[in-house]
Amino acid sequence: MSDLSTLPDGLDALEARLRQDLAWLELPAKSWVPPRVIGGQPVVDVVIIGAGMAGLAASGMLKRLGVANHLVLDKATAGQEGPWVTFARMRTLRSPKQLTGPAMGLPALTFRAYYEARFGREAWVALDRAPRETWMEYLIWYRQVLELPVRNGVTVDAILPREDGMLDLVCIKDGLKETIVARHAVLATGRDGLGGPFVPDIAKSIGRKFWAHTADDIDFAVLRGKRIGVVGAGASAMDNAATALEAGASRLDMFVRRKELPRINKFTGIGSQGVVHGFAGLPDEWKWCFLNYAMGQQTPPPRPSVLRVSSFPQAHLHLESPISGLEQEGDHVIVTTPKASYPVDFLIFGTGFKIDLSNRPELAAFDPHIRLWRDRFPVPAGMPNAELEGSPDLGEAFEFLEREPGSCPTLAKIHCFNFPATLSHGKLTGDIPAISEGADRLARGIVRALFVADREKHFENLQAFDTPELLGDEWADDETEEPSDLSSERT
Ligand SMILES: Cc1cc2nc3c(=O)[nH]c(=O)nc-3n(C[C@H](O)[C@H](O)[C@H](O)COP(=O)(O)OP(=O)(O)OC[C@H]3O[C@@H](n4cnc5c(N)ncnc54)[C@H](O)[C@@H]3O)c2cc1C
Repeated sequence: MSDLSTLPDGLDALEARLRQDLAWLELPAKSWVPPRVIGGQPVVDVVIIGAGMAGLAASGMLKRLGVANHLVLDKATAGQEGPWVTFARMRTLRSPKQLTGPAMGLPALTFRAYYEARFGREAWVALDRAPRETWMEYLIWYRQVLELPVRNGVTVDAILPREDGMLDLVCIKDGLKETIVARHAVLATGRDGLGGPFVPDIAKSIGRKFWAHTADDIDFAVLRGKRIGVVGAGASAMDNAATALEAGASRLDMFVRRKELPRINKFTGIGSQGVVHGFAGLPDEWKWCFLNYAMGQQTPPPRPSVLRVSSFPQAHLHLESPISGLEQEGDHVIVTTPKASYPVDFLIFGTGFKIDLSNRPELAAFDPHIRLWRDRFPVPAGMPNAELEGSPDLGEAFEFLEREPGSCPTLAKIHCFNFPATLSHGKLTGDIPAISEGADRLARGIVRALFVADREKHFENLQAFDTPELLGDEWADDETEEPSDLSSERT
């Protein structure tokens, strides 16, 4: 299949092919959810909060399954959703270029198809990993060609339960408040969607101007000529270290608790359709066992990211160096580890994200009712894990479950489609590889809930349906009363 003449020539041709593929598959399916109006206001069947990759894939799947009356809201301006062109500081994606990610099984919707249509097959062959800006452009294209109903610049400030079992979504756009009534809400709010950046308490011992988290907006230009400390050695820590060095940092010290950098990407290594579809079926103690082990082993930063840092002679790696003290001294900070003390002008925490529902104003009304794993699962001996213990305990369609059964039934209308869903569902939400499978599971679950909730209306429709298949003139009743005696006729 290396015949270049069969490739779509440019994006116009690719889009034409995609339209053709969708038409052949009769997609999107016809819209089927009965419309509702409350107090003169149309009800939206599903509101997806977040128009990053996960929100777009969820929208694509809902559209595909005929749930046309849905919306995707994002506080970011169009094209700025998610980390890719905001706080991500790697040159390319960390994952391999050939992942089909949000393509929903449609070849013409893959990153590869997009890239080849724009730059040609040879460029694809020569490409190592996707540049993050190109990946963002692909997501913008994706949303355009699927005509997804995204509204940008809209912050969902609060989700509130309604007496009628639906949800009020209090939104802010351009300083104005608008309330949307929704039957279901999907949190596609990203890596920190149930919490925020994690920074160790020790950071409180120094002024805020001396430090940032990797997810912050950092002005690297002002770090030129400065001594920079980086805490942690994950992918984001490396990317930030490299960006600081490239911006002209005079010295960089990276502080790592471990004896050595993790080298093997365990969970990705065993990736398969079995893991994608089978994880959710594991007994709880086995889910715990898999993730606790994988987290303990940690994910190594990509090799190119480490080489990007280590190529600078002024970059110093300090292993077995947890920070035991931070002290402000004039215009700089002294970082103390069990090995030595280091003066730095600025410190960057590459310490990841945490689950902390109290950090998410949009969930405040539901927070006390959301069941976490720690609320019902006895942690297996020898495997304590604060992050897993704080993970939400989710139902089959990623819906939250109640801590006290019956205390907040509306919770079942809120679906947690972001990274913290991993313990319940496996890696279907937090990164690229299986996002379509995750969106498929989510959308099917919502379709089932909508159909069941509207059963009376669907039954009414069944009774009222009167479009004839037969017109009555196809075959008439045999009017003879007695069957003719064929045997006597024969004699
Ligand atoms: C720096 C970085 C690099 C990564 N690189 C890779 C990689 O190479 N490969 C890989 O597989 N994975 C990678 N990941 C992991 C994952 O793929 C990304 O985090 C990805 O962006 C997840 O998509 P998402 O849609 O879940 O979240 P996001 O892309 O973060 O989108 C969430 C959106 O929700 C919006 N939002 C949040 N709250 C509200 C609200 N209340 N109202 C309105 N809008 C709201 C935000 O504005 C945001 O646009 C990376 C993650 C990070 C942080």
